[in-house]
Amino acid sequence: MIFLLIGPPGSGKGTQGRILSEKMQLPFFSSGDFLRELAGKEDSFSRQIRLFMDRGELIPDTLMKELFLLEIKKLIVTHGGIIIDGYPRTLDQAKDLESLLLSLNISDSNIYVIELIVEVNELYKRLNERAFCPSCLRVFQFHENICNTCGTQLNRRTDDTMQVIEERLREYELKSRSLHEYFSNRGFLMTIPGEGSIQDIASTIDQAIKEKKVGINKK
Ligand code: AMP
Repeated sequence: MIFLLIGPPGSGKGTQGRILSEKMQLPFFSSGDFLRELAGKEDSFSRQIRLFMDRGELIPDTLMKELFLLEIKKLIVTHGGIIIDGYPRTLDQAKDLESLLLSLNISDSNIYVIELIVEVNELYKRLNERAFCPSCLRVFQFHENICNTCGTQLNRRTDDTMQVIEERLREYELKSRSLHEYFSNRGFLMTIPGEGSIQDIASTIDQAIKEKKVGINKK
């Protein structure tokens, strides 16, 4: 099965994606984590990636398309499915991914798109208060100091500043918002309220997946 998590920055895609990954026993791929690892290197390609990320802009497909698709393909072929956070983020990426899934003979009934909906003020608040574990990459509230899973000192993301947050939310409106209609028309979309406790949201996602499965089997 293929699960795609979409929604604005701060909507909880990474947190819910990791939970789903454990439940489904499928690998978790975060395009943002993948890029942060690349951007941490000291070559000209990495510097180019960093420039876009620091500004809060999406990395152009001319730079990343092949690398993203290669990594996603590798994980699907090895594990039989995947949970993806942060890809696709544009209609072009959605079409590229669908072509890949088609080439891997993955049927539409095995594709689930989970969209998390969170009110914009709450997004600002969450991003402003966010910290992450540099070791296991889990996300926390800023006032926490130590990762409760691996004990590592938490860090702040360099793009979680007010100016860059604004740009990332603008990019979302401009380039990613249309994915809602696209995936809805394709019959893949499950829209989930992303506010409330992490566990409640995870349960709502579970329920929506079960209902979609029942719906598919009835057809
Ligand atoms: P995230 O960790 O998902 O918030 O992503 C952090 C940053 O990585 C974004 O602000 C973009 O600069 C870049 N990024 C992540 N996913 C993509 C993508 N699918 N396409 C282009 N850029 C991306």
